Amino acid sequence: MAICPACAGSHSRSSYLGCGAYRGFDYRYLACCRCGSLFVDPMPSEAFLNEMYGRDYLDCHYSAELNGGVSNQETGRELDRVVGMLVERRPGGTVLDVGCGAGRFLMAARSAGLRPEGFERLASTADAVSQVTAAKVHAGELDALGGQYDAVHIADVLEHCARPEDLLLRLRRLLAPGGVLIARGPLENQLNLFQQTVRLSRLTRACLRELPPTTMPPYHLILFTLAGWKALFDRCGMRVLHEEIYEWRWPAPERFTLRPVSVLKELSLMLSRSRLGQSRRMGNRVVSILAAGAC
Ligand SMILES: [Zn+2]
Repeated sequence: MAICPACAGSHSRSSYLGCGAYRGFDYRYLACCRCGSLFVDPMPSEAFLNEMYGRDYLDCHYSAELNGGVSNQETGRELDRVVGMLVERRPGGTVLDVGCGAGRFLMAARSAGLRPEGFERLASTADAVSQVTAAKVHAGELDALGGQYDAVHIADVLEHCARPEDLLLRLRRLLAPGGVLIARGPLENQLNLFQQTVRLSRLTRACLRELPPTTMPPYHLILFTLAGWKALFDRCGMRVLHEEIYEWRWPAPERFTLRPVSVLKELSLMLSRSRLGQSRRMGNRVVSILAAGAC
């Protein structure tokens, strides 16, 4: 029986994303009947995850940024917003960025007067980020840190975790009394026009002919809905202090063109930002500020 890694629901069904096969690992995406999130079944082993997130992943995803490549404007605006929230609550405080990637949060946090440190899964990644940012970047086991931080920041990480509750419980223990967790990431199965159209298109194609399994590595093990995202924190005894839903241009062409996919994305963005979209909580991203302690 497959258990939803977001809400721990035990009932699921097949989903529009179907099956995948990557380097001999066969998987499928199931839809949780309780929270609506999608998740990979079976989950890959730790050894397989280490292989997936090796040097190739670093080269592909972080190198451009580590080498001063073109920055994404939306990422920059989101970073400024999140760092601003943190400074408002903990000016000059210590913050640990877990899954610090190319180190952009570390640099933005330091510029805002915070005292940032990073954490990465692999020592090689931690070294590379530390060299670029001159910040202390830890690697290895989170439990070994033992520090008490005013804030812990985690962005675009939970969807990569087979057991995200284990990670969140570890992060909780790193917080100083009164400390906050800032979590942000994609809501890839939340209501928004673009995602619903992609879903409809895939379902239509699947009705007309059998779709081959995707050959993409299953980097995103969970495709959250807002309900699943909130249930996960609730299960870990985290209380929501603040939450914002919004929509990024990705996935779609970054610049507006007259191509149908681009026009559709523009409409989706407008709808998500409208009063209707806000009331229906449309969007493909979320940022939550949380405190330890049951609701
Ligand atoms: Zn669920």
